[in-house]
Amino acid sequence: MQIVLIAGDGIGPEVTAATQEVIAATGVKIDWIDAPAGLHSAEQFGDPLPERTLDLIRQYRVALKGPCTTPVGKGFRSINVKLRQSLELFASVRPVQSLPHLKTPFEQVNLIVVRENTEGLYAGLEHQVVPGVIESLRVITRTAAERIVRYAFELARQYGRRMVTFCHKADVMRLSDGLFLQCAREVADDYPFIDFEEKPIDNVCLELVTDPKHYDVLVMENLFGDVISDLCAGLVGGLGVVPGANLGSKYAIFEAVHGSAPDIAGKGLANPIACIRSGAMLLEHIGRRDAAARIEHAVVETLRAGVGLTRDLGGDGNTRTITDAIISHLPTGS
Ligand code: NAD
Repeated sequence: MQIVLIAGDGIGPEVTAATQEVIAATGVKIDWIDAPAGLHSAEQFGDPLPERTLDLIRQYRVALKGPCTTPVGKGFRSINVKLRQSLELFASVRPVQSLPHLKTPFEQVNLIVVRENTEGLYAGLEHQVVPGVIESLRVITRTAAERIVRYAFELARQYGRRMVTFCHKADVMRLSDGLFLQCAREVADDYPFIDFEEKPIDNVCLELVTDPKHYDVLVMENLFGDVISDLCAGLVGGLGVVPGANLGSKYAIFEAVHGSAPDIAGKGLANPIACIRSGAMLLEHIGRRDAAARIEHAVVETLRAGVGLTRDLGGDGNTRTITDAIISHLPTGS
């Protein structure tokens, strides 16, 4: 099995290497195909996202990606936005579950955030009307709206989830979110066996930080999804532990939610759990459910044991010790 590996910048190479090790320890054999992206790639090849990298993903379909540094205000377009748009990775999926050991205000959070990845305000359509006045266009199309809501319902069906919540601001953005809401209602009609609710995004924010257990699968447009995904990560212990996937009908890229953490890069201090759990999602995507479940189990048991944990998790360990701990907690394969 060949899978593309974008190690990325900063702590990217450290957390992806840990992920490769854990996957190898499950017995799943992967031939990793290295592909450049990020600041490193810009410096070395003059391009933060070379066409060769996109071609490799088109060829092998699936990639594991470390975070890439995006310098602010240097005319450097976000690599992640370009990847999503070039490969039509229309869905961002972030499972958010409470984990042992991590002190958080709530227990038993278990939800999935599904974010539309290609449109909304991130369509990148901005222009200057006159000096001092900028317009950004918020694009919502029926095709993309239906596609993402259907994706959320299919995910709910596949994983036996009870409810899908569509988050919007249709009372203010009557045309754009009005269309999205109408599409959501139409798609929901096809799934009478899954509960459906529609809620203004501000209400959702309030409830997420007062009663997150109410939620199951949430689906929304791009900008709302970007913000809500991080908020939800915060509910269960932060960016170091939450995995993520960007999925389209042809290609899939699995990556942690956090950035390249330049402050700790190269010091062996990075927490690889988010990347390792993204690797587990990758294994599930390629049909290796057993290995994926074993990794999830090992991560949970490592946190429960509380030995070898990195500093961000309250431990005094490092990337090496936590990776070893996870490998030691891997149950034997069936
Ligand atoms: P960041 O997530 O890199 O770091 C925020 C804080 O969290 C830092 O203190 C960092 O040390 C800590 N942290 C993050 N991940 C950690 C981990 N795995 N283990 C331990 N500590 C961790 O966010 P930032 O500083 O805003 O961004 C840095 C760079 O990353 C920017 O260039 C940004 O554009 C990029 N970025 C990339 C992605 C991506 O490629 N997916 C996502 C977000 C940010």
